[in-house]
Amino acid sequence: RAKAERRGSHRFFDHEMHEEVVSRRALENDLRDALARGEFVLHYQPRFEAATLTLRGVETLLRWQHPVRGLVGPEGIIEVAEDTGLIYELGAWVLRNACLFAAQWPGLTISVNVSTLQLLRGDLPELVQAALRDAGIAPARLELELTESVMFEDRERSREILNELKSLGIRLAVDDFGTGFSSLGYLMYYPFDCLKIDRSFISNLEPEGGARAIVQAMMALGRALNLAVVAEGVETEGQLRLVQTIGCDEVQGFYLSRPLTAGALAEFIRAYDSQPRRA
Ligand code: C2E
Ligand code: MG
Ligand code: MG
Ligand code: MG
Repeated sequence: RAKAERRGSHRFFDHEMHEEVVSRRALENDLRDALARGEFVLHYQPRFEAATLTLRGVETLLRWQHPVRGLVGPEGIIEVAEDTGLIYELGAWVLRNACLFAAQWPGLTISVNVSTLQLLRGDLPELVQAALRDAGIAPARLELELTESVMFEDRERSREILNELKSLGIRLAVDDFGTGFSSLGYLMYYPFDCLKIDRSFISNLEPEGGARAIVQAMMALGRALNLAVVAEGVETEGQLRLVQTIGCDEVQGFYLSRPLTAGALAEFIRAYDSQPRRA
């Protein structure tokens, strides 16, 4: 019986895999068309200085404005784009538009998520330089967010490219810090400026307990290595208080603002400036 069940589920699995391959191919084509048709948009999530809740910058987050399905988030898109190589074109588009957006908001920094594949291709420094030049923004206003997976790949090469990027004068951040199972040694090896603590730690923050101990340890590590520390995924006032107490430099999360369209961000900034800070 167990054997029959296994066989049964195996057949079912094959069928699912086939469906997945077909729908993946369809999605790949859809993404190509979407890029050509201009259906991708950027949303912007505000990032604040933790102590004062002054608005410091925004993180750009990719969305697909699908004619039928509505607004589609990045998770599935990025993965397929990486598998098919579309990530290079898409990534360049994001970078370019993020910099153009930053040109409209001189007081803000702009963070852009970059996949490890984009980094390893090697032309990222040139793309960044061109995007900065064409938008006319200072390099120090741009931050690239990379995940810890950069160091599972070719260490020498990724370090070389990151150093090249760094020498342009931009900032480099480790995104989703603490989730990558990486050795901490890489923090000395790579020219990062900033750690973004993964939101899984922040969402479990309580006055007592393991999450707090971990966030405090990350904070101490950041301080010791002279890295700015950002808490992402702050959803409650309690979490905000705790990351302020722990001493994180910047905060980001639904409690302060969700990712916004360009128009909604302008509205947010107007309303936010005319209100007393929440701290
Ligand atoms: P990420 O870079 O870690 O971005 C933060 C994600 O957490 C965003 O999801 C954001 O909407 C969400 N978030 C922010 N605050 C909160 C909160 O308080 N609570 C909760 N539950 N979530 C919060 P999103 O937009 O779905 O993006 C998911 C991931 O997709 C990003 O994670 C990033 O890794 C990737 N991504 C997004 N845009 C791009 C892009 O242009 N290029 C690349 N390569 N990856 C991107
Ligand atoms: Mg990010
Ligand atoms: Mg993150
Ligand atoms: Mg992430």
